[in-house]
Amino acid sequence: MSVKAYSVKLNGIVQGVGFRPHVYRLAVEYNLKGWVINSSAGVILEVEGEEEDLHEFLRRLQNEPPPRAVIRSCEMREIPVHGFTGFTIRPSDDAGKTTAMISPDIAVCQECKKETDDPNDRRYRYPFTNCTNCGPRFTIIKGLPYDRAMTTMAKFTMCPDCQAEFDDPGNRRFHAQPNACPVCGPRITLVDSHGVPVNREVRDLLKSGYIVAVKGLGGFHLAVNALDAEAVMRLRQRKRRDAKPFAVMVRDLATAHQHCIISAGEEELLTSPAAPIVILQRREDSPLPAEAIHPGLKTLGVMLPYTPLHYLLFDDELRVLIMTSANISDEPLITVNEEALDKLGAVADFFLLHNRDIYNPCDDSVVQLTKGRTIHFMRRARGYVPEGIPLGRPVLPVLALGGEMKNTFCITRGNDAFLSQHWGDLNHYQNYVNFLQGIERFKASLEVEPEALAHDLHPDYQTTRWAKEQKDIRRVEVQHHHAHMASVMAENDLQGEVLGLICDGSGWGTDGTVWGGEILRGDFLRFERVAHLRTLPLPGGDLAARRPYRMALVYLLLALGEPGLEWADRLLPDLKPGEKELMLQRLRSGSEPLTSSCGRLFDAVAAVLGICGINRYEGQAAVELEACADPGEKGSYGFALEKQGDRWVMDVMPMWSELIADIKSALRPESMAMKFHLTLVRMFEATLLKLRDETGLNRVVLSGGVFHNQILLDNMLERLTNRGFMVYHHQKVPPGDGGLSLGQAVIASEVGG
Ligand code: ZN
Ligand code: ZN
Ligand code: FE
Repeated sequence: MSVKAYSVKLNGIVQGVGFRPHVYRLAVEYNLKGWVINSSAGVILEVEGEEEDLHEFLRRLQNEPPPRAVIRSCEMREIPVHGFTGFTIRPSDDAGKTTAMISPDIAVCQECKKETDDPNDRRYRYPFTNCTNCGPRFTIIKGLPYDRAMTTMAKFTMCPDCQAEFDDPGNRRFHAQPNACPVCGPRITLVDSHGVPVNREVRDLLKSGYIVAVKGLGGFHLAVNALDAEAVMRLRQRKRRDAKPFAVMVRDLATAHQHCIISAGEEELLTSPAAPIVILQRREDSPLPAEAIHPGLKTLGVMLPYTPLHYLLFDDELRVLIMTSANISDEPLITVNEEALDKLGAVADFFLLHNRDIYNPCDDSVVQLTKGRTIHFMRRARGYVPEGIPLGRPVLPVLALGGEMKNTFCITRGNDAFLSQHWGDLNHYQNYVNFLQGIERFKASLEVEPEALAHDLHPDYQTTRWAKEQKDIRRVEVQHHHAHMASVMAENDLQGEVLGLICDGSGWGTDGTVWGGEILRGDFLRFERVAHLRTLPLPGGDLAARRPYRMALVYLLLALGEPGLEWADRLLPDLKPGEKELMLQRLRSGSEPLTSSCGRLFDAVAAVLGICGINRYEGQAAVELEACADPGEKGSYGFALEKQGDRWVMDVMPMWSELIADIKSALRPESMAMKFHLTLVRMFEATLLKLRDETGLNRVVLSGGVFHNQILLDNMLERLTNRGFMVYHHQKVPPGDGGLSLGQAVIASEVGG
């Protein structure tokens, strides 16, 4: 038997997830001596003991991390034996280069939930109960190393009971930084819209149809009884939210099953530590008022309560609540009590406040399980941010600014890309201010000074303007769809040339036109536009995106000539005669910008089918067209492929006369909507086959906001795979502009590296 000693350094998500107590317990189990420390460089430990024990300890250390920990690297080396007499957890050391990461927020664990349900427990119904396996992290952390002093819990001093738990290595709350109880921790208060405390049960208020603003983990929600159609409509009016679907929070999984069809994979997502909003197929017999909650859609966004506070909102008679982010139209998420009372006074009847500050605002994440059972991000935020996306190799430290709407930024460090939570439309001043503040906070907590700044080509994006004002840093301009392509390449760790099918709303092209239905050939450093949708006038620029009937008029006119105008009159009730004349004048004079947007094509078809003529929220026409499509339909329409110079032009003009013939013969819109989807699928497939012949490239990546459409995604994946292509899609970031910054960052780091 021989005594040996090792020094070990662990990196990844190893702070705020009970790592040190885990190490402690493991060391004690094997009778090892030494110490462990949380440093900004990760978790560092020295252990010594019998060789066999030591090996077993090191094996289990790497293979059996605590539930929420992610070990990215583990360096160990043998060192001389020191002769320690016990195993200790040393206080944090904040020297050293940061390679540690902040953990995302973690939904309340089963053990904590049990305690808050137990009338005999000292944490019975305590809204801020947490432990090393669960609770707030990112939203309350100001910096590393992760200690209470660096969180918004710093102002609460633990009572002797909590302190004893915190100090006991055998306790589940050993070094649980946000540890709290009713004696010493944060508290809730219920007030009316004037800020006057009211002595009532919040559940009773909700049952009476009142709208309650609830301060949660990453911001305020507006809550209302989802079964009360009138109350839901009142919330819509007050929030000035016409048609955009609301998400619901259900009391438990059983309730979720009553309203939605849920697969095992979806159940896993719902109950995962991230506890996101999961888009589910709603049951037809669900009594929820569909028209008030999710007009025009068959899917419903559902989440489970993810803090003990949320459980207080439910009981046996109140099982489903609308839970929608508390902001007014495009303004930022509200996180501060006073601001909530000030801004939501006319929206909410009551306010459930608390005195634990939210440092990093963070919306709920929205995900969907694809047919292929992969996770698809609509919005990547709470529960996932700020976990790094592994890149498979070290990259230059870069700040990438993303786009403009539904934006994220991205900072790279070492082998990882750190994407921010989503920020609203940056044209709104306060969103822009928060976005810039978010960048500073990420830079500080990651301890990174970026060496390059990546941004979009669009001259009018706020992010482009800001980038151009920065001095002393190298700027890299990245074409929008090249960034989308690089984003999906980066998360799949692809090197070398690929074909990128990018279906998007709009992005600034290198030729000054608005791109959006593109096939690019390239790698991180360069790209070539090898195919695109036929270019058409974009009537009224941005106005076209808000009014799908405008794009419909353009397609009908160009596809059918003068008879197309008569069809426009019949099929587009939102098109007013005066507006039509003006549009025609401008179209004839050739003064409109040109576009190859795929998103606008969805708009046009949705308008012609009478599904959606005016977008009351971004992407509404496309979302409703997808919802309408009958998956049983197998037909499709004609299209044309034409080689112009060195590019293929993909033209759907032949589709329109066939579509009109279907309308004449009164085919169901559900069938036509599906035939349209399949037309695109067949056209893209045909084009990619030609491009594979020409280039020899067999790897295809799919990206762009239109790939939020699951019919398009599933069918493209299936058909291309059947044709022998290697096909890659997004599983870690959204395909839309929420994932743009990742692609920009990797491109900029390649350019610089
Ligand atoms: Zn817990
Ligand atoms: Zn306490
Ligand atoms: Fe885009």
